Amino acid sequence: MRILLAEDDPLIGEGLRAGLRQLGFHVDWVRDGGAAERELRAHPYAAAVLDLGLPLKDGMEVLTEIRRAGNAVPVLVLTARDAVPDRIRGLDIGADDYVVKPVDLHELAARLRALIRRAHGQPQERLRIDDVVLDPAARSVELEGDSVALSAREFDLLHVLMLNTDQVLSREQLEQHLYSWGQEVESNAIEVHIHNLRRKLGSALIHTVRGVGYILPRASKK
Ligand code: CA
Repeated sequence: MRILLAEDDPLIGEGLRAGLRQLGFHVDWVRDGGAAERELRAHPYAAAVLDLGLPLKDGMEVLTEIRRAGNAVPVLVLTARDAVPDRIRGLDIGADDYVVKPVDLHELAARLRALIRRAHGQPQERLRIDDVVLDPAARSVELEGDSVALSAREFDLLHVLMLNTDQVLSREQLEQHLYSWGQEVESNAIEVHIHNLRRKLGSALIHTVRGVGYILPRASKK
């Protein structure tokens, strides 16, 4: 899942970026509010982690602006321990959750997973299509109860498709979900990953919509 991190403190920012990466998130990190707003408008992030005290434009302003523009990206606000009124105001103007600094990385990751799941109308922690079960926290996939070894990209691709069942996603959209800034996208990477997923999970799971993209139907195989 690709997320935006807006944090001006270099130590906290680097720590969160590295930690979230290790937990399987693709993280684009910006250090001021202007950049945060610009990137949120430009890319379909699965979620955003927003510090409130940011240069150029504070987090509240960024949040107000993107919500006014109709952007529904799940936003998790980072707040200082003593800033209860800020927290309440943040929730009122469109934050979806908050975490108190100093941040516990695993709590942050779990809250992000919950926000992303809810934003896609998925009440269950584990995603299931027929006999394929994907566990976002464990980053594991099972087919008919047996664990299936996927590469990190194959897992991410399947995760995006399972969150967006019954929607056609173009190759460009899938690339946007899977790669953060500066990561080289090999020209036929998505096709190769789809091919591997079909080989490992059955050819009927993911459908190709010719000239448009790929779709994972809710009731796919039977
Ligand atoms: Ca700050």
